[in-house]
Amino acid sequence: ARADAASAPRTPGALADGTAVPLLANLGNADGAEEAVALGAEGVGLFRTEFLFLSANQAPTVAQQREAYTKLLQAFPGKKVVVRALDAGADKPLAFLNDAHEENPALGLRGLRALRASEDILREQLTALAEADAATEADLWVMAPMVATVEETEYFVTLAREYDIKTAGVMVEVPSSALLADRILAHADFASIGTNDLTQYTMAADRLLGSVASFQDPWHPAVLRLVKATGDAGRTNGKPVGICGEAAADPLLAVVLVGLGATSLSMAPTALADVRATLLDHTLDDASRIAEAALAADDAASARVAAQEAAARTK
Ligand code: PEP
Ligand code: MG
Repeated sequence: ARADAASAPRTPGALADGTAVPLLANLGNADGAEEAVALGAEGVGLFRTEFLFLSANQAPTVAQQREAYTKLLQAFPGKKVVVRALDAGADKPLAFLNDAHEENPALGLRGLRALRASEDILREQLTALAEADAATEADLWVMAPMVATVEETEYFVTLAREYDIKTAGVMVEVPSSALLADRILAHADFASIGTNDLTQYTMAADRLLGSVASFQDPWHPAVLRLVKATGDAGRTNGKPVGICGEAAADPLLAVVLVGLGATSLSMAPTALADVRATLLDHTLDDASRIAEAALAADDAASARVAAQEAAARTK
């Protein structure tokens, strides 16, 4: 960590060669918006709407949701705000959307699958988002969680368009969607990689289980290859590919992710300063070389060391 980073001027995120890498905030509540802006967030890369309703027994009303989304969008006039449709299941159960009795909730009816099973809830959420969007000046993007197939992508994008959502995308956090990212991005306007679940599902290791925590490491080259597949697909399709998992908050891993094709990074606002400072140490060519070094490793620990060595050479 750098002592000077927190007090550095809040310039937009960029690499040493001037390549823009927008630095965005992960938020679970509009109350965090002011602090995020103060810490230099250029917008919101992940608004976790399910956090608003974790203790609710009934689905939130359109009016309740409109109020929450309006408050969020008002805090970011002219800025990009990526709102995720309710992501219910496993680590984020919602009583009104989930069956609590599944044996393997991480592999169950969750995320977009749960929303499709209760499509009225999804339609109400899109209604509230469209109304909040119409009343405010932010650039609203909406994405679906836990998308595993091209068909799910088409379903969500088509439905979002019905509500006049102009920018509709999907999260890439299941290996199948990373492997099919070229096809998925033919339909979606953007992808956002959730490295927390992408790592969990790639490594088959419960993200909340301490006994397998050593597997839950986004530096693992298997995870990095899936990020690269998604980044390549973004470039081919001319579509943005953001990162919104915790990996983006690790400054050197952030450089690697940009080298693999990520076009924006979203993180807890307290991580923004260090990531901003580290990006400025490397050009896009450097980032690609550092990413190549990490990709060529056998495991997470050696990927990290290889990236550190490559970064020291290019700095
Ligand atoms: C992720 O899975 O990386 C992600 C950003 O979503 P969440 O942590 O809310 O599951
Ligand atoms: Mg996730």
